[in-house]
Amino acid sequence: MLVDTAVIVVGAGPTGLMLAGELALGGVAVEVVERQTAPSGQSRGGGVNSRTAEVLAMRGLIDGLADQAIPRTNVGGHFAGLPVALDNGVAVTVRGPGGEYRMCGRYLVACDGGHSTVRKLTGVAFPGRAGTLAAVSADVELTALSATAPRRAEHISRLTRTGGGYWMLLHPLEGPRGEHRLVPGRVRRAGAGHAAP
Ligand SMILES: Cc1cc2nc3c(=O)[nH]c(=O)nc-3n(C[C@H](O)[C@H](O)[C@H](O)COP(=O)(O)OP(=O)(O)OC[C@H]3O[C@@H](n4cnc5c(N)ncnc54)[C@H](O)[C@@H]3O)c2cc1C
Repeated sequence: MLVDTAVIVVGAGPTGLMLAGELALGGVAVEVVERQTAPSGQSRGGGVNSRTAEVLAMRGLIDGLADQAIPRTNVGGHFAGLPVALDNGVAVTVRGPGGEYRMCGRYLVACDGGHSTVRKLTGVAFPGRAGTLAAVSADVELTALSATAPRRAEHISRLTRTGGGYWMLLHPLEGPRGEHRLVPGRVRRAGAGHAAP
């Protein structure tokens, strides 16, 4: 089987899906290839960054969300202004549960996350340094709340406590059973190979 399209988007995370939606709205033929067969169920975004908010606003998707936002201060953002020539076609082999097939398009966009397979296969460098901070994140149901536990979403600085060499973030989620997100980590910067507590 050969799927012939204009743009192949690898990865159906927020970047890939937003891009695919934009291309489709612009009348460009687009195919999204995603490794997972179902949402992972992992907790991720709890905050909307400046650039994310700008992109949502461009599509009129920020209304209603902005009213509930807790303002952040002293934070910045970044843009990736990559000088990449986009004048070549691309052909890829997709290996899925149903077997293997080929796709070709004018462009392929790597939206497959920080550990991007596409980036590694194409030999694109990822300058910078590896992460040095370790933490774990868990969505939990608490049997009881102390008097100091936060009852509602607040600025992150007011939801974080430190002590004994660790920091801990606890913030309420809007689940049906009063779930909370619990994120403990070490205060000091963790070295290479450090395991989360
Ligand atoms: C615990 C945690 C908390 C976070 N909190 C926030 C937050 O509060 N606010 C915020 O803005 N961001 C937050 N982030 C970061 C945010 O989740 C990422 O910036 C965002 O998910 C990046 O989107 P993406 O589409 O680029 O990549 P991803 O969301 O990683 O999506 C990549 C997709 O590509 C797929 N894929 C990978 N390899 C292949 C392949 N070879 N073939 C096909 N598909 C493939 C993956 O299955 C995945 O669906 C958090 C991240 C974590 C881990």
